[in-house]
Amino acid sequence: MMLITATPPHDPRGGLIFPEENGVWVVMMAGANKDYPPTDEEGFTAFARSLGPEFSGAVAAATPISKPIGYRGTDSRWRHYEKLARWPERYVVLGDAFCGFNPVYGQGMTVAALSAVALGDALRHNGGELDGVAQRAERAFGKVTEGAWLLATGADYAWPETVGGERSNGLAARFGRWYIDQVLHAVAVDPQVRMAFNEVNQLVKPVPSLFAPGIFWRVMRSRS
Ligand SMILES: Cc1cc2nc3c(=O)[nH]c(=O)nc-3n(C[C@H](O)[C@H](O)[C@H](O)COP(=O)(O)OP(=O)(O)OC[C@H]3O[C@@H](n4cnc5c(N)ncnc54)[C@H](O)[C@@H]3O)c2cc1C
Repeated sequence: MMLITATPPHDPRGGLIFPEENGVWVVMMAGANKDYPPTDEEGFTAFARSLGPEFSGAVAAATPISKPIGYRGTDSRWRHYEKLARWPERYVVLGDAFCGFNPVYGQGMTVAALSAVALGDALRHNGGELDGVAQRAERAFGKVTEGAWLLATGADYAWPETVGGERSNGLAARFGRWYIDQVLHAVAVDPQVRMAFNEVNQLVKPVPSLFAPGIFWRVMRSRS
């Protein structure tokens, strides 16, 4: 596969080419900061060219099986049902209806699955009695959503054109953003930090595991 990553804040273009079955390859191009890849053939080709000769050469060598298809649904939206003081009994909302993510980060299905596990736990905890489960479950969904939300919105806010929501600018939030930047530099040079980051990024471990002393010092050392 070939992957060209966009780099915030000023290098918004990226692309990905990867194989599917039967000799079919997917070509995906993306532009942050509203730098949308065109879906007409000429604009598509020009955008591919801007990603470098290897990328545009691979695209030019292929036979298209469809016209380019554009997609601009990149918002993330958390409805915070877990914060409501009152909630109807035996009524459960999870998945995208609870929190939808910018799909570029590929988190929605995993968070929905983690929420389903949390719902199972809440049902078991209540000994099979259905009343009293729903609100506890909504609160549990809030917890499993937190880490993915932080990663997705943190990455989106690195782009100056991102709109909506409120971005905390307190000391802890600024330190958190600075530290995650250092982690991202360290993943390129330290396999242990890379593994720790992958586990968080794949939602196997919570975000605070990146602040564990063993990882923290490796991240700091990688700066020198
Ligand atoms: C382009 C794109 C790429 C993505 N890539 C990834 C990825 O790589 N990894 C990942 O984990 N997630 C990814 N996601 C996110 C993932 O698809 C969603 O998080 C997941 O599908 C949410 O599941 P859901 O059941 O909550 O909602 P949905 O899958 O949207 O299902 C809701 C269903 O309800 C139906 N419906 C709506 N209204 C009504 C109604 N009134 N009556 C009856 N039925 C109704 C809809 O037709 C739909 O079938 C991606 C999303 C997009 C858009």
